[in-house]
Amino acid sequence: MTTILITGANRGIGFELARAALEKGWTVYGSARTQGKAHDMAASLPGLKALVFDVCNRAEIAEGSRRVDGPLDILINNAGIIGPDRQSTLDMDFDGFAETLAVNTLAPLAIAQAFLPALRRARTGRILTVSSQMSWMGYGASDRIAYRASKAAVNKVMQGLATDLQADGIPVALIDPGWVRTDMGGKAADLEPAEVARGILKVAENLSLTHTGKFFKWTGDERAF
Ligand code: NDP
Repeated sequence: MTTILITGANRGIGFELARAALEKGWTVYGSARTQGKAHDMAASLPGLKALVFDVCNRAEIAEGSRRVDGPLDILINNAGIIGPDRQSTLDMDFDGFAETLAVNTLAPLAIAQAFLPALRRARTGRILTVSSQMSWMGYGASDRIAYRASKAAVNKVMQGLATDLQADGIPVALIDPGWVRTDMGGKAADLEPAEVARGILKVAENLSLTHTGKFFKWTGDERAF
């Protein structure tokens, strides 16, 4: 039986990931940042085991990790934010930029570290972090630069973690979900979260050391950093 943890599972892509994993009959842990949100999430997703932590709060993450006492096969770092209203290189809300880095870049690493003992307990531990096509270094797009930078940085961090966990046999990879109709993606986005979630789960399920350190589209195709 596969056990999975999805962060930010109370709405958006994370919610659909949790729903799809429950439909597969897996043991599913989903995190939300408050008790109230966790309660609503658990009520909407029967069978889900709710964890409560803000992804930027190391003490709360540690408490959450103590609740997972068995093996953890898959960690999906999904929680993320788009960043502050003012995030141009010429007019930057620096506190908002720092928060964006904290949520999108630092938190996935802190969560991976905290749940590493549980991932090691499963002989098939895997880590997948949701990045974005907006991280791509191949062009000079400058809108939402705090968000772009935070996702480019998490790509580098996870590539490094992949190198460092290779000897433990734990694959670490990144996923680009495309443009998805969620609160973040907006109504004009071209992909349904449920469809994308099924694709991401398939990638997570099939992750092996041959994929470690790589960046995939939600369809499973490898893509450029
Ligand atoms: P949503 O805004 O719909 O959901 C974001 C989720 O992250 C919510 O559950 C939110 O919780 C959680 N979250 C944010 N900050 C924190 C925090 N500090 N602590 C705990 N939870 C937190 O976004 P999506 O579902 O669209 O995005 C999911 C992931 O996909 C993100 O990493 C995003 O960057 C990425 N992505 C999305 C795209 C899209 O088109 N939608 C495109 C490319 C990448 P809460 O309800 O408490 O705020």
